[in-house]
Amino acid sequence: MIYSWHQPAWDQLVATRSSNHLAHALLISGQSGTGKHTFVTTLVNSLLCESPCEDLHACGQCKSCKTHQAGAHPDYQDIILAPDKTQIVVDQIRSLNSFLHKSRSYKAYRVVFISPAETLNINAANSLLKSLEEPVENTVIILLTSQPSSLLATIKSRCQQIHLATPTKKQSLKWLSQQTTKHTPSDLLEMAGGRPIAALSLDESSQFENRQEFANDLSDVLEKNKTIIEVSKKWQSLSKQILLDWQITWVQQLIRQSFSSQSIKPSLRINRTYPINKLWILHDELIKLKAIAHTSLNAQLFLENMLLSWSKL
Ligand SMILES: [Zn+2]
Repeated sequence: MIYSWHQPAWDQLVATRSSNHLAHALLISGQSGTGKHTFVTTLVNSLLCESPCEDLHACGQCKSCKTHQAGAHPDYQDIILAPDKTQIVVDQIRSLNSFLHKSRSYKAYRVVFISPAETLNINAANSLLKSLEEPVENTVIILLTSQPSSLLATIKSRCQQIHLATPTKKQSLKWLSQQTTKHTPSDLLEMAGGRPIAALSLDESSQFENRQEFANDLSDVLEKNKTIIEVSKKWQSLSKQILLDWQITWVQQLIRQSFSSQSIKPSLRINRTYPINKLWILHDELIKLKAIAHTSLNAQLFLENMLLSWSKL
């Protein structure tokens, strides 16, 4: 399946492949929560299929498709981040060499999928360079990332880069309203920062309610109805990244509100306006905090520090 907002990128790939110009390495990038995994899954299925349909979608019926569906395709290898790790390491890339040079079992492409590519550590990236420099016939290496700027320039220059578009608000709302959701599509989309697939998974989790409750608590801190300490204590077990993502969205809302005549439904219940320069400072501070949020800092202290940034408004 290809989401409608990714159709132009798919059509482009189909045209490239039909004219035998498909690169041996593709770097596919796109914002998280916008369906890029679905795009790549469709592409991998298509490359492994021995008799793809006219629009190059996999047939789903041939022996190669059936083998891949069973999770045992000998011409396919994925190199992904282990659940408890933060980096793809060189040992994971080393196995590639023998995989790339053994003979193929089916007559379609051999495919390697690496994700998220920005987590390749320096040794792994350097080891991968060798494979990228020596293309193997009928083989495609696909790297997937939401942060292409974090990749080594030497990796990027050896790949054909495909950027998957983020859907427009109209496209996202149209798609979300075709799904069955508990919450209003526009609220979900706003909460997910305009990313429709992320919006749908929010609907299926308890995050929607959590977010509203945290917005209320933060409003209470700003209105001095609650203390920073009590709110930090309450939320210390929730992911720091998620809390920061919400706050960054809210600051962006406040910034938009301050120079837009359009009324934006605010998430925070506050009765005052803040100077825009201070909002930008807060925005930058929250982004800096997000960069260190994955480290094992004391959660309550981290949250206190985070809420203190708001008190400087
Ligand atoms: Zn097939």
